Amino acid sequence: MRLIALLFALVFTLPAAATEEDPDPFATVEIATTPLADDLAMLEGAGGNLVVAWDDAGAFLVDDQYAPLTGRILAAIGELTDRPVRFVLNTHWHFDHTGGNENLAGEGCLLFSHDNVRRRLAVDQFIAFLDREVPASPPAALPVVTFSDSLTFHLGVGQVRVFHAPHAHTDGDGIVHFVDRDVIHAGDTIFFGLYPFIDTSAGGSIDGVIAAVKAMRALCGPDTRIVPGHGPLMTPAQLDEYLAMLTGVREAVVVLKDAGMSLTEVQAAGPAAPWDEAWGQAWLTSDQFVELVYASLPGGAD
Ligand SMILES: [Zn+2]
Repeated sequence: MRLIALLFALVFTLPAAATEEDPDPFATVEIATTPLADDLAMLEGAGGNLVVAWDDAGAFLVDDQYAPLTGRILAAIGELTDRPVRFVLNTHWHFDHTGGNENLAGEGCLLFSHDNVRRRLAVDQFIAFLDREVPASPPAALPVVTFSDSLTFHLGVGQVRVFHAPHAHTDGDGIVHFVDRDVIHAGDTIFFGLYPFIDTSAGGSIDGVIAAVKAMRALCGPDTRIVPGHGPLMTPAQLDEYLAMLTGVREAVVVLKDAGMSLTEVQAAGPAAPWDEAWGQAWLTSDQFVELVYASLPGGAD
């Protein structure tokens, strides 16, 4: 888990383009496939986790990581089915989930997302917390079909229900429920084993993340598999651990903030201390996560 988290942390901070020092930061990335059913699999490379479903008509892909990986992702899917990828759904706008959009559209794939994903991809963005400018995507990379509340695909894998989780990791998160396979793709509303990044400059909030996790929990049976945006495949019990961490940190921060403490004072009080060893080692630090929670609480700085 530590290693996966560390790899993720490194990858998430990769430059969007090659640099002189590192002309191909993706050179060593390989795509790993974890079967979830006869017609469903999780793929991991660099960036957000992918899920692919397939039938005789073609494949349905959730997220597409970075542009330099498209060939490797398609090769991994080619090991599962000889049918082409027809549909690609973006769980949110971040570059480690949508970087392959233009390539895949060029292969004939139809791109889907929440309305706000397309809206953000279409213009320059600035992720304040990462101090990172993200230029607008070319028109070919923009989703062609968008939804506001929910969208259902009817495929060989059965019903695939996508529903919007408002103001969670961003303002455009889509949670993907493979109803007939008992699998959920959480997008970046879950970073498992890591304090989650909440993109407060793109409308994200701690309360939205908690609401998203509760909505997913309500869909779980005893054997549900949950694919987080980052981190390993999860069980419902592990989803409960994540929810307990989120609500625990939130409640601890609320008490201090309501007492009139500034962010610096709240951080110094260590409200996330009970969770730091398990969640705060390889990506966001305790202070960083507390900052995101503090800023995105109702009445917060954002
Ligand atoms: Zn993200």
